[in-house]
Amino acid sequence: MSSPVAPRRVQYESIETGIVRIVLNRPDKRNAQDFRLLYELNDAFTRAAHDDEVKVIILAGAGRDFSSGHDLYERDTETFVRIHDEFPPVSCAGGYSRPGIEGFMSREEEAYLGLCWRWRNIPKPTIAEVQGHVIGGGLMLVWPCDLIVASDDATFVDPVVAMGLNGHEYHVHTWELGHRRAKEMLFTGEPITAEQAHQMGMVSRVVTREALTEETVALARKIAKRPAFALRIAKQTVDQALEAQGMWTAIQAGFTVHSMAHSHNFHIHGDPIDPAGPDLIRDTLSDYEANQRQRAAAP
Ligand code: ZN
Repeated sequence: MSSPVAPRRVQYESIETGIVRIVLNRPDKRNAQDFRLLYELNDAFTRAAHDDEVKVIILAGAGRDFSSGHDLYERDTETFVRIHDEFPPVSCAGGYSRPGIEGFMSREEEAYLGLCWRWRNIPKPTIAEVQGHVIGGGLMLVWPCDLIVASDDATFVDPVVAMGLNGHEYHVHTWELGHRRAKEMLFTGEPITAEQAHQMGMVSRVVTREALTEETVALARKIAKRPAFALRIAKQTVDQALEAQGMWTAIQAGFTVHSMAHSHNFHIHGDPIDPAGPDLIRDTLSDYEANQRQRAAAP
């Protein structure tokens, strides 16, 4: 008797000619990213990229929240190595099972930085369809996309400075938010709303929760009327302008410092993160939400 098949973490929906909608499907865990979810997502992106009929790719999340970030309960080497029996690594880095920061850094380079950069460079327009909370590693799924449509209840935050880190592994905060807002988010661990993100140019459109999917598909439909090759080279030209400003070099520098911070935490705490971090993050986010409720209730 064969073993039961694990429920899929990512769904692939061909919703109409030229448009695919990929859905993170782990709503009971608020779409937290374990390795299985990340590699299933990578498979789905690859499938859409290789399908010549697909012109625009939407990335959505099932349930109340788009993504609560990395699954902190799954950080062990064995799971990481085992997942590659099923999903081959995207880089040739290797060294995933080596001790010390060597193995840890290799794993994060492969599963976080490597996958994000791969998705950012898909030669087709990608649109993130975002609702609810986007926390930490959740941003690493949103920011590689070309456009972001957010519902008015969406909030965005990278709170991991509380864990003794410089931010998550795909350090594009400065490019996405501008240097002052990037520092404010990193220093305080407080979220920005969809409307604030829209004002600073990070979010393309803000819509109601009810209209989120419909508006995202409408935007995809508009884009899909254009020639695929022109879309590809338009995207490439904008992305190359960012690279000419040093984006990739800065991301790599951020990742190197990030790995150094994990090493520091191992030395001090025997753990890759400061163990006081998760509680501090929970407190900060609950204070923020209480504040928001108070403001909304104020006459
Ligand atoms: Zn890390």
